[in-house]
Amino acid sequence: MQTTPRSNRLAIAFFGRRNVGKSSLVNALTGQEVSLISPVAGSTADPVQKSMELLPIGPITVIDTAGLDDEGELGAQKIRRAKNILSQTDLAVLVCDASNPDKSLEIEWLGTMHKQGGRILVVENKIDQAGEIQDWLPLAVPKVRVSAATGEGMDLFKDALVALAAQSPAEPSLVAGLFPPESLFMLVAPQDPQAPKGRLILPQVQVIRDILDHGGLISMAGFDQLETQLKMLSRRPDLVIVDAQVFGRVVRLIPQDWPITAFSIIMARSKGDLMALAEGARQIDQLKPGSKILIAEACTHHSMKNDIAREQIPRLMNEKTGGGLKFDVMAGNDFPDDLSGYDLVISCGGCMITRGHFMARMKKAMQARLPITNFGLVLAHLNGYLDRAVAVFKHDRMS
Ligand code: SF4
Repeated sequence: MQTTPRSNRLAIAFFGRRNVGKSSLVNALTGQEVSLISPVAGSTADPVQKSMELLPIGPITVIDTAGLDDEGELGAQKIRRAKNILSQTDLAVLVCDASNPDKSLEIEWLGTMHKQGGRILVVENKIDQAGEIQDWLPLAVPKVRVSAATGEGMDLFKDALVALAAQSPAEPSLVAGLFPPESLFMLVAPQDPQAPKGRLILPQVQVIRDILDHGGLISMAGFDQLETQLKMLSRRPDLVIVDAQVFGRVVRLIPQDWPITAFSIIMARSKGDLMALAEGARQIDQLKPGSKILIAEACTHHSMKNDIAREQIPRLMNEKTGGGLKFDVMAGNDFPDDLSGYDLVISCGGCMITRGHFMARMKKAMQARLPITNFGLVLAHLNGYLDRAVAVFKHDRMS
């Protein structure tokens, strides 16, 4: 279970002021001392994360965040990190002190959480210290009252959490669910020098698993073996799935009427709104010298020669638009709140992040009226195959 990638785990994060008992609740849920419990306010600095299995839900990541009322420059940084975690969260647990009548900060955060669109559970803790508790919730969200100190209400808290977690939409099929069982998928997956030694990259692993789970059949080869692979096929594949970097070369070797897409496009569909991302790629044609592009990778890795984000995409886009484009590349969890000044956002495939996290990035770009796309769609557009690569998903309801 510990090997389930984070992108497939439901992310449940705890938010609240300092010393309201977030860490006690996290520890009660996980059954472990995940977070340090201290009477000293502000003892949780960086978000603390724990992967576990929550029955009957399955694999989850529990995240404890710093106090939302922390002070000073360091406190402001902690709050920024907590906000960043919120954008990656499927289920937000807002913990408050039932004995504190001031709920202004909680009401403000509820508004932010509501805008984010994920599920919310409010936990009023310390009921053993509170007198009569006034209703203060401005929104109709589930609420439980507990005392982490005495244990009162803790079972209700866990039941409410499980009930909300169970409302998560089931993971949609990456691609094979769109086809009947025993459909044939021809995979062309040359191994990039940047791929981890001895392993396939995650999108390839996930697509293979999805095909097997849906009773599909697989023929797989690297690009150099493609011609042999084609000769050995006893029937026309229902879908050809290729690494984006060889899309153009594969298209030249297969018949015009074979449906084809790329691993990165399948991932784009599983993470976000594919047709909006495709439209974002088409907006490259509107860029001019001086246009500013944000390239956002969702995890950090050592960049190598001919890196797709830092070299390939900037070079190809400059060639296409006549040059003079300006690129900022950022990697990791952070995604800027302020996107002003940019003309386009290009995301990586987002294989290490959840759909909710990727959609939050898309939402931010769309709210800033910025087109957003991803690496695979950019490559498909620059190489002239975008329409063909997304055609197989045109009528599917997720796109
Ligand atoms: S940069 Fe993006 S696509 Fe590449 S491994 Fe990280 S999350 Fe996956």
